[in-house]
Amino acid sequence: MPTNTAITPPTATLSNRPDLPQLPELGLAELQALMTSWNQPKFRAKQVFDWCNKGVLNPDEMKNISAELREKLKTELLCEPLNLIRRECSTDGTRKYVFGLKRGRFAGKMVESVFIPEEKRGTVCISSQVGCVLDCPFCHTGTQAFEANLSAGEIVAQILAIKADLRAEPLAQALEMHSDVTHIVYMGMGEPLANEDSVHQSIALFMHEDGLNISRRRITLSTSGLVPQIKRLGEVQPVNLAISLHSAIDELRDVLVPINRKHPLKELRACLNNYELAKQRHITLEYVLLDGVNDRPEDLKALMAFVNPERERVNLIQFNPYPGSPYQGTSKDNMREFAQSLISKGIRATVRRSRGQDIMAACGQLKADTSK
Ligand code: SAH
Ligand code: SF4
Repeated sequence: MPTNTAITPPTATLSNRPDLPQLPELGLAELQALMTSWNQPKFRAKQVFDWCNKGVLNPDEMKNISAELREKLKTELLCEPLNLIRRECSTDGTRKYVFGLKRGRFAGKMVESVFIPEEKRGTVCISSQVGCVLDCPFCHTGTQAFEANLSAGEIVAQILAIKADLRAEPLAQALEMHSDVTHIVYMGMGEPLANEDSVHQSIALFMHEDGLNISRRRITLSTSGLVPQIKRLGEVQPVNLAISLHSAIDELRDVLVPINRKHPLKELRACLNNYELAKQRHITLEYVLLDGVNDRPEDLKALMAFVNPERERVNLIQFNPYPGSPYQGTSKDNMREFAQSLISKGIRATVRRSRGQDIMAACGQLKADTSK
């Protein structure tokens, strides 16, 4: 009888172990319940919660709690679900972070987040998945195989780690940029609505009024157009919505945003008409301009016919190339002309300024590179 068939490698045993709950995915009420079950006074929950929201997840750094509670936190929870692997700083103040997951069989997989400072706000673009199941052919993330849905803890931990980093090393004053997180956009790696539960849970944690207290007006979720999930998001947490439109012609959108084959424009249109908007807010229709592909006169005409100018605005995006990308971006002049034509028809149109391109931190360039 062969001797090696019955041997279970130790890593397999480890990976079969159920994942520990993660500290950053616990709300105040859950922490309170945990403290009660550990015979700890209830106020300890608020102390731990406050540390987390400052970006301190390591119990050893939580100065006002007992050594016993620190040990308990360390053994019962995965307190820091992400490893900061690399940080790259762009000359314009943008910072790109590469994080490694620590959870069970996903340990070592990587995601990226980007901090984008402006004069009066600091926006973090977060990832919701490792890779993406959808294959939009102009997207770098889409070229990476889908590997994992992030947990709510891993989504929230991206923001907490960036807050901690900005506190430890604020942006240079000479840049005159905001050096803390005020806005969150789900525009990093992955399709957030394909990881619905964790994304909903993370939004609730960001909005927690005793926690980060980021209002829904400061949170934007970008989706390629998963119609039933957009409806549900609107029902439970109507944050700002951005739609990766990229074409208002079904045949072309079928190619550029393949989820269109399942949820074509007519279905998307009806869903957008019913999405609850905060006062003076608009749905953003994202449109990456690809030379000779979706920037022709007929594309403009179809886009004009699709947009509802009362509730929607168009955000024209410069194509961010990546090694081996099959498209060319439209010229800057053409882009301006495209925007002008929309504006002349009473449609709000903006051109997204690309940030952090020197560190591959711009939209659609995120793809954690294991070779570096
Ligand atoms: N999966 C979601 C969110 C992540 S992508 C979605 O598709 O909406 C964030 C935005 O970047 C989307 O509008 C996406 O279409 C755009 N994008 C993807 N690849 C790009 C590229 N190479 N250049 C410019 N924008 C890109
Ligand atoms: Fe996925 Fe969005 Fe990229 Fe499409 S554009 S492949 S949905 S991350």
